[in-house]
Amino acid sequence: MSDDITVEVVDGSRAADVLAVVHEAFANRPPLDPPATALEETLESVREALSQHGGLLVEHDGAPAGALLFEPRGRLLGLRRVGVLAPVRGLGVAAQMASRAREIAQELGFTGLELEARVELPATINFWRNLGYVESERNGNRLTMLRMLPITHRLETAEDTRAFGEHLGARLEAGDLLILTGDLGAGKTTLTQGIGAALGVRGAITSPTFVIARVHPSLSGGPSLVHADAYRLDGPPELDDLDLDTDLDQAITVVEWGEGVAESLSGDRLELSLHRHRDDVRTITLTPVGPRWRELDLGSVGSLTSG
Ligand code: ADP
Ligand code: MG
Repeated sequence: MSDDITVEVVDGSRAADVLAVVHEAFANRPPLDPPATALEETLESVREALSQHGGLLVEHDGAPAGALLFEPRGRLLGLRRVGVLAPVRGLGVAAQMASRAREIAQELGFTGLELEARVELPATINFWRNLGYVESERNGNRLTMLRMLPITHRLETAEDTRAFGEHLGARLEAGDLLILTGDLGAGKTTLTQGIGAALGVRGAITSPTFVIARVHPSLSGGPSLVHADAYRLDGPPELDDLDLDTDLDQAITVVEWGEGVAESLSGDRLELSLHRHRDDVRTITLTPVGPRWRELDLGSVGSLTSG
């Protein structure tokens, strides 16, 4: 048996195939209360949706096997009626649709993707979680899941890195958590210095040798900057255990870490990954996680340094 899977961007001309997939996929799910409205879709409603915003159709060995509808929601690209037929489940059809949807969102300049899932279907929720989607809203049994797209910028000099921190710092609010990863010398502390300058906090921001975290109070009544340097620690620090005598909800927390430790965190955070290239230029990739960052205009942060 061959597993020839193709993912195609389709318009209203493929409405019949898409409708057939949506109806069959959703009819095969356990009964939900309130029921999913997907079964109410008609040829007309699907054709209209596809003509306006398009969708994806997956074919497996030439036969329709999966589908979804696109729905722009401001700066987010919504995914509706994500359905995969039972016989092809486990072949990666949903993963391929998700990855194509992500590429399209990126190409079209959306800042993230959003979809609705049902709490009664934990396997579905886990599928999206594993792809980096997080819960952003809950309305009864309907869960909204959000995945912001990463943005990468080039930082030519240490001054660019600092300036990037300043422009980012100006957009931060009390309660924000920033996770900086990257090798030693990548520019994590330099970036934090820029953030501290934007916040107008007291004290020099350095790489602390003996202390793991320092609190820099604001000089103007704004939020403090909590700067934790956990680079030398084996695992993620428990921020609550640091005994900082500071309410993290009232502060902006920046944690410097080595590569690959941030994944174990949950909740809203801004992940910043710095990479030092052979020519000494750095690139920074920002991955906003969670609803906090839905409206944050990170694109304009970068235009100041990449333009
Ligand atoms: P980290 O905290 O990740 O270990 P630092 O911020 O201490 O890294 O930076 C290490 C060195 O790299 C500093 O001397 C800093 O000036 C320099 N640096 C930071 N950003 C850049 C950049 N974009 N280009 C060149 N040098 C940089
Ligand atoms: Mg450092």
